[in-house]
Amino acid sequence: MKYSLICPSCGQKFSDNYLQVCDHDAGLVRTVYKNQKLRLKPVKGIWKFQEWLPTHHSLSTNGELKVFKSDGLSRELGLENLFLAFNGYYPERQASLKTGTFKELEAPPTIARALDKNIQSLCIASAGNTARSFAYLAALTNFNIVIIIPSEAKDQIWIPTNRDSTNVRLIALNGNTDYFDAISFANKFSTLSKITNEGGARNVARRDGMGIVMLEAAVHLNRLPDHYIQAVGSGTGGIAAYESSLRLVKDGRFGSKLPQLQLIQNLPFTPMVDAWKQNSRHLFLDQIDEKEIMNNIDEISAKVLSNRHPPYSIPGGVYDCLKATNGDMHGVTNQEAFSAGKLFEDTEGIDIVPAAAVGVAGLIKLAEEGKIGAKEIILMNVTGGGLKRLHEDLPIQYITPEIIGKEPEETYSENQEISVVST
Ligand SMILES: *Cc1c(COP(=O)(O)O)cnc(C)c1O
Ligand SMILES: [Zn+2]
Repeated sequence: MKYSLICPSCGQKFSDNYLQVCDHDAGLVRTVYKNQKLRLKPVKGIWKFQEWLPTHHSLSTNGELKVFKSDGLSRELGLENLFLAFNGYYPERQASLKTGTFKELEAPPTIARALDKNIQSLCIASAGNTARSFAYLAALTNFNIVIIIPSEAKDQIWIPTNRDSTNVRLIALNGNTDYFDAISFANKFSTLSKITNEGGARNVARRDGMGIVMLEAAVHLNRLPDHYIQAVGSGTGGIAAYESSLRLVKDGRFGSKLPQLQLIQNLPFTPMVDAWKQNSRHLFLDQIDEKEIMNNIDEISAKVLSNRHPPYSIPGGVYDCLKATNGDMHGVTNQEAFSAGKLFEDTEGIDIVPAAAVGVAGLIKLAEEGKIGAKEIILMNVTGGGLKRLHEDLPIQYITPEIIGKEPEETYSENQEISVVST
């Protein structure tokens, strides 16, 4: 066996049956690879890390991120060892994630793992960027996918190819809906239609896919960084970075100190920051009026950071990862994010998406407050960028959504056609 799964809560080890849960508790099960030393495959793109991805075969996709040393931004901030993991499209730097965000690291291993398990179609919820990456990868591989998005995201769903996309089914929820409504809908929808739910943060293929950021950085730096900085909504990227770091420490060639997670949220919607600052494993969202929550979500500029039920409290979740790495969380305003995005574009020569700008605003704050040292090795996960360039350079095909109500029961009985995708 190439890998097994382990529950961080009870320590039980089991083989991958595609169920994402432990029998005993709610622990976030993670992958343990038989090969403890990272060996790269001689291919371009993310499949060079296939030994540490939970799939038995690869897809013929070659998009990749690039890690490089910052010169412009680092000079501006007085950081001597600032490294950027650029997850987007930046041809001069050979970064080629053509849907423009690090969600494109998750889609290939997720689809490959489904095919391993003989699953021919998946249903997935998204706030926008995940939808693009899965739509694109599904179109490239002729995989059937049903994507559920809140209505607000419907204009952002395009794929950078002219390929046929009839195997991509996009459902936009009507009205004042958010990412969590899409998640709830996807859960009910997959039960009704029997199309496998992809599983979100619980899906080890998604996390190990995102964990590639840390692998790529460690290979580039020949060591683990001191800090890992990222804008988070669910925090899954942070969990993935931590899990990759554990593997790299076990490998032995990259040092023994885990990078400190510095995770950033967009004010005024900062449920994880609020809990973390109170040293609480539990979120306070159930104590807040739903209307206020939706208003706060309405206000943030980076809507992909709006998860109302992030995997924060569960064993192996964000809280545990922060504790294990002596990490911290921070909130930044829309205005700080906007300025940070502009500074990034001016100093590094490429545009970044609003969520990535939230992350960079966090970096700026950490530098100003002296919470990261001028000589420390900093890994900034620039989670998305290059959309302007991408629209100039690549063919862009918009996916037309079906607009439907909030409840899948209604839709499903009215619209049996939905089940067609499952075959
Ligand atoms: C999804 C996303 C994030 C947040 O990622 P999580 O680790 O899952 O919270 C940040 N930036 C961009 C561009 C994203 O698409
Ligand atoms: Zn368990």
